[in-house]
Amino acid sequence: MSHTTADIAVVGAGVAGLSSALALADAGLDVALITDARAGEASPAAGGILDTGHGFILPAHREMMRGARDLWPAFSAMLTERTGVQIPLNRDGVLELATSIHEAERLSALATDEAEWLDAVALAALEPNLAHAQGALRFRHDGAVNPLVLLKALKQAIGRHVHARVISQTVASIDPGSAAEGVTVKMIDGTTLTAMRVVVACGAWSGSLPGVPMHLPISPVRGQLMSVASKALRHVVMLGDGYVIPRGDGRTIIGGTEEHMGFDVRHTEEGAQRVRALAAAILPALGTAGMLSTWAGLRPMTRDGLPIIGADAEVPSVIYACGHGRNGTLLTPLTGALVAATVAGTQQTTDATPFSPLRFT
Ligand SMILES: Cc1cc2nc3c(=O)[nH]c(=O)nc-3n(C[C@H](O)[C@H](O)[C@H](O)COP(=O)(O)OP(=O)(O)OC[C@H]3O[C@@H](n4cnc5c(N)ncnc54)[C@H](O)[C@@H]3O)c2cc1C
Repeated sequence: MSHTTADIAVVGAGVAGLSSALALADAGLDVALITDARAGEASPAAGGILDTGHGFILPAHREMMRGARDLWPAFSAMLTERTGVQIPLNRDGVLELATSIHEAERLSALATDEAEWLDAVALAALEPNLAHAQGALRFRHDGAVNPLVLLKALKQAIGRHVHARVISQTVASIDPGSAAEGVTVKMIDGTTLTAMRVVVACGAWSGSLPGVPMHLPISPVRGQLMSVASKALRHVVMLGDGYVIPRGDGRTIIGGTEEHMGFDVRHTEEGAQRVRALAAAILPALGTAGMLSTWAGLRPMTRDGLPIIGADAEVPSVIYACGHGRNGTLLTPLTGALVAATVAGTQQTTDATPFSPLRFT
């Protein structure tokens, strides 16, 4: 059976693995990115919203998300320069809609420098098709990217990188071995690879990779999305669990469900109806707009909704880049930077303590 070596192995080529592999290769390490392709991968299923306004209770976490978001212009420019792929980056703001007077009162009280309150008149001026609403909180600097174009650019950047190679294989197990021996990665075809370190970036499957030293509290949370033919809105709009993401090319993505169904990756008629209902609550016409496609993916969700990025507490040759939950697209540039800093042992510009694996040990 064949055996190869690398400085570092990265397992999984979603946005977490790709951004990690790119940052590590840029640091001059010989990187082997080992991945299979499987139904339910989160990265191509994502809506791509760069949302820093929702779900982060602690101000420190919101600040981290904003820091990650603000890396995007330079990150997408870097990828474009290397690959020629233009990643559509929408930073027009994300609207959190108020459809009742009560919600308008609640949201308007939350206005800050980052989030301006638009009353019904101001909202209608910005988005005429939302004239029925009572107003919206506009997270000024949030927006969206197109995840499929992002993946294309990342894959091309890796494919062209002198320090990176891709091995299309399923990893059967990792054996962290000793510090002197390095980590052995076993593939299901029997081939092996030895590296000084391994990055676990297997999304929702990270916790079930045999040999991972710690118990990773990551559960798959299914999300169903749909693409419809509509140019009705220009901004990303959110209301409750529902959201609308205009792609600017006649397609609008509507979503999204959060379902605890294990590794069931099917998209269902029930899910499609739920997605339609969520979108119709934002703009009734979206409830009946022509469907272009529908799909599902598995969010790799931790107990606290934050990713796990950093070295294992006991086995520092194993580094985690997983559990990105609802925010993996947003966190793409930061994930690679944090993994590369962990490997290099350099001071990180972002305090990554909230993402530390130690919080679960
Ligand atoms: C429906 C939906 C909507 C979303 N919307 C947004 C959004 O609007 N904004 C946002 O920021 N985030 C969003 N997310 C979240 C985001 O997509 C994820 O957090 C992110 O993509 C996770 O990336 P990942 O690389 O960790 O996992 P994945 O993309 O799932 O990649 C994991 C990779 O590991 C590979 N793999 C697994 N096990 C093995 C193995 N044993 N051997 C080899 N390869 C293996 C898989 O094949 C896959 O390629 C959404 C997710 C979903 C599902």
